[in-house]
Amino acid sequence: MARCDQGYLCKVCGEEVENITESELYLRYVLGEVDPELLHLEPECHLLCTPAISQFIDDPRIGTVTCTEAIFSKENLDPEFVRSRTFAVTAAYKRLWEIRSERRKPLTVVEYPLPGTADRWR
Ligand SMILES: [Zn+2]
Repeated sequence: MARCDQGYLCKVCGEEVENITESELYLRYVLGEVDPELLHLEPECHLLCTPAISQFIDDPRIGTVTCTEAIFSKENLDPEFVRSRTFAVTAAYKRLWEIRSERRKPLTVVEYPLPGTADRWR
C-alpha cells in the first residue's frame, strides 16, 4: 500500500492494516464487490479478522483460516458455492500480492480488480 494510504485501522481489532495483502476491503474491491466510488469511505479490516471471507483463501501465505461462526462457516455451506467462492477469493488474494509486488510500475487503483469483476461499476 502506498505510504499515503497507511494509517487505516481495522474495524474489528483496531490495529493498523499495514499491507494491501492483509486488507479485506481491497480483497472485496479486487473481486468487484466494492463500488470504486465508495472505496475510500469504507472501513478497513484485516483478512484474519473476517474469517467469513478469508476462510475461502487457499494459499499458504495466509494459512488455514477457520470460521467459528456456524452460519458463515464453509463446512455448513453448499459445496458448489464453496468451490466457486474459494476459486474467486483465492484469485483475488493472489492479485493483492501481485499489486503489492508491483513496485517498479505501480498499478493505479482502477487497475486493481480482476478482469471482468468490476464491469458492473462501469
Ligand atoms: Zn484486525
